[in-house]
Amino acid sequence: MAESTPAASALPRVRALASQVADQIAAGEVVERPASIVKELVENSLDAGAKHVRVTVAGGGIDEITVTDDGHGIHADDLPLALTRHATSKISEARDLFGVPSLGFRGEALASVASVARVKLTSRTADDSAAHFLEVHGGATVDQGPCAHPQGTQVQVKDLFYNTPARRKFLKTERTELARIEQVLRRLSLAHMDVGFNLEFDGKKRGINLTPAKINQRLKEILSPSFVAESVLIDEQNEDYRLHGWVGEPSHHRRQADQQFFYVNGRAINDKVVGHAVRQAYRDVMFHGRHPVFILFLELPPEMVDVNVHPTKHEVRFRDTRRVHDFIFASLHRALRDLRPSSGDSYTGDNAQPSFTTTQPALQMAPAPQQSGFKLTTDPEADSPAPLTPAGLAQMIAEHDPSAQDETPPLGYAIAQLHGVYVLAQNAQGLVIVDMHAAHERITYEKLKTQAQSTEIPRQPLLVPLALDVSVAEAQLVEDMQAELQTSGLVIQRAGPQAITVQEVPALLSLKVVPQLVEALLADLSEIGTSSEVERAQFDLLASVACHGSVRANRHLSLLEMNALLREMEQTENAGLCNHGRPTYFFQSMDQLDKLFYRGQ
Ligand code: ADP
Ligand code: MG
Repeated sequence: MAESTPAASALPRVRALASQVADQIAAGEVVERPASIVKELVENSLDAGAKHVRVTVAGGGIDEITVTDDGHGIHADDLPLALTRHATSKISEARDLFGVPSLGFRGEALASVASVARVKLTSRTADDSAAHFLEVHGGATVDQGPCAHPQGTQVQVKDLFYNTPARRKFLKTERTELARIEQVLRRLSLAHMDVGFNLEFDGKKRGINLTPAKINQRLKEILSPSFVAESVLIDEQNEDYRLHGWVGEPSHHRRQADQQFFYVNGRAINDKVVGHAVRQAYRDVMFHGRHPVFILFLELPPEMVDVNVHPTKHEVRFRDTRRVHDFIFASLHRALRDLRPSSGDSYTGDNAQPSFTTTQPALQMAPAPQQSGFKLTTDPEADSPAPLTPAGLAQMIAEHDPSAQDETPPLGYAIAQLHGVYVLAQNAQGLVIVDMHAAHERITYEKLKTQAQSTEIPRQPLLVPLALDVSVAEAQLVEDMQAELQTSGLVIQRAGPQAITVQEVPALLSLKVVPQLVEALLADLSEIGTSSEVERAQFDLLASVACHGSVRANRHLSLLEMNALLREMEQTENAGLCNHGRPTYFFQSMDQLDKLFYRGQ
């Protein structure tokens, strides 16, 4: 029996929501939790040119959040407007939306907060003889008038979600909320090093207490003292983009991805494209399962990025996603591959890891081929397959004649082999200790990679094409991105609305990984318009080939072989780290050795 249609009287009619309800719904997007309130309020302070911002928090931010600043303040007549939705002093026309220089512009943060908490707004401008305050409970004014307060603004937020108890239940423990608040302040403070920040929990000064600081000082306080010493400064520019900041050396890794800060035109954002570019740059040098540390600022013309994607402004949309991706990747890749191990400042015993530098004169690259008489592997004639077996060392020896060398090369000359594992060498400054397996592994790997990249990826047709079920969007993507797929060594065709068939795959890959690979590839292609998944799978394979094909421990090497290894290292990208991110060599200068033995003291 057919269902009866609803009676005319039960037909739902369209009505406008009461503004209080509308505000509360909107508030859900901006005011997710105490940390989002802190973010909005502190951003307002920064927009007002504050030089000092104080945040006090009680009860994990539920009971109270107060933000006090010394910015330009709000005109007394504007206090009610400041708490009204879509009221802002920061933009006035739609076209201002592009190139907004301030952090805020939507004019909804204060109104949203005021709709779900009891808010007291106090402010005084430079011209006012007295301050004024306005108190609002759930959007309705309860009190206002003049009061005493120095120049600047104070926003006090009490009893968060008192009128929307359901929202309260979604909050985590007090400790989690406090941790999030701290993270918000850290993020903002790195982009505003000239501003002082304080955070007080329940009356106690804790966590963050930052005076306006020199850059290094703030990096030390927010990240760690070792980050400053173990990071590389980046400043790269092309006609549209500039990327600057600091990236941690591969040896400076963390268990969590909690020290990764990325800003687009001064605004902290989380972005998949950026994350992918950074991961790809660290791919071969990061210890497995660990996360790099970085603070990066990307500047680009305002019309090339839309910041008005989401009310919290955590996300942006780039006009040319792929170009942004490739620019970030290339900048980081350049910086990281030039790292060379050095001894760090001194032997202290508490730092087993060597530190890295790009400037250590003792360990610069070998001289250019014309001067050295070396036959470099980049020489087109030498572009033969990399030595996969220890016997390949013989070829290296043939390529490097130590007698043709007049100066001591950066990694010096071998003097002995220690317990079949380490090569000891002496260079102009002191002692070099090389893990011969790790070093050879990197050399072999880099050669295999260069080879793989310089030729078109050889494809292998499948006898039985592999049929895969996908979404409609993914099937469409396969149709649209034929060229990209081909360059990745894949021939994939659309076989129906939600079906594709894989017909050819890179010859190097095992069939087992193909379904997973295609899935990851399509995800990348749809999100960032490019993918390194196939390359990564290939490189993984090359890495294990390199590992198995490289000299093992306990193999006796002659001095000639050891010297050949050292020369090869000097010409290899990333030679300071093995494929798994472990260092390949360690250096001790004579000065450091002398200190160890108290010589000359
Ligand atoms: P938006 O920041 O998007 O403009 P808000 O709701 O956060 O919207 O703030 C509304 C307005 O209130 C701002 O445009 C600004 O003029 C004023 N305001 C808010 N906080 C401050 C502050 N700390 N100092 C000076 N003015 C402020
Ligand atoms: Mg704001």
